[in-house]
Amino acid sequence: MSISINKIGIIGAGQMGSGIAHVFAVTGYDVILCDSNSDNLDKGLETIKMNLGRQVSRDVISQDIADAALGHISGCTDFAAFGDTDLIIEAATENEDVKKIILQELCKHIAEHTLLASNTSSISITRLGSYTDRPERFLGMHFMNPVPRMELVELIRGIATGEEAFSAVRELTKKLGKTPVNAEDFPAFIVNRILLPMINEAVYTLYEGVGSVHSIDTAMRLGTHHPMGPLELADFIGLDVCLAVMQVLHDGLADTKYRPCPLLTKYVEAGWLGRKTGRGFYDYSGDEPVPTR
Ligand code: NAD
Repeated sequence: MSISINKIGIIGAGQMGSGIAHVFAVTGYDVILCDSNSDNLDKGLETIKMNLGRQVSRDVISQDIADAALGHISGCTDFAAFGDTDLIIEAATENEDVKKIILQELCKHIAEHTLLASNTSSISITRLGSYTDRPERFLGMHFMNPVPRMELVELIRGIATGEEAFSAVRELTKKLGKTPVNAEDFPAFIVNRILLPMINEAVYTLYEGVGSVHSIDTAMRLGTHHPMGPLELADFIGLDVCLAVMQVLHDGLADTKYRPCPLLTKYVEAGWLGRKTGRGFYDYSGDEPVPTR
């Protein structure tokens, strides 16, 4: 029997959760967006509204589609509303303990048929699946940031993930207008296994004084045709997320080449997490981002 997916639950209304809710709603799915922090939930819903408006002003979608999308999204702060969802995507903070508690609690509130996915950037899908009561219906669904614009979704199969669930989510990904790529369950999968060591190396380059923030980002933009420099990109991703991924690579692959740069750790300890906190490698308090080093 094929799996039918109509109603989507999303946990975490941060940059990723709100972006994921946005694309499902624009495609016509009913979405419940859940965040344990009601301020973050409100912020996430506001971001979706703003981004839909921006897409309308750029003729990416019509006003009718934007209005309909908003009508498809509701918000909540606990899992009680998830009873009739067909797929739930966990997009909460990149911390295994946080995700473990969420997954264990979530399973008490959902129907037997509900598929579960995590948007984790790096944590083992097999291990996350083991925290649920349905590892055969659990997989990694790794969207890229910003979700409405990026075409790729990495699909990660844990050791217990069943073919039926995997195929259903693969088809769903295509319906969203995204391209799925299959990845095996190794730390950080494909994109972040390659991207984050590059960002970490850019931070080492800054740390060792090889170049300033401006020269490192300019060198990589103009020298490799990357649309953003690595430090600008790190601020965009969130320095806490970058550090968490490097720690997972370092622990999971036990190779010193993945050692997180001490300067990255220091920025995170200072609460300088990039764009989302107004300061990272750039200061975002003025009209234009200003390099901090
Ligand atoms: P974020 O910090 O913007 O948002 C995380 C949200 O999770 C916050 O609003 C927080 O209140 C919420 N949250 C924390 N604990 C919760 C709980 N118990 N129940 C419900 N909500 C809870 O983070 P983000 O950048 O959106 O990242 C979310 C996930 O997506 C992470 O796993 C991250 O690795 C992954 N991811 C991030 C990016 C990126 O570029 N930022 C890209 C791909 C995947």
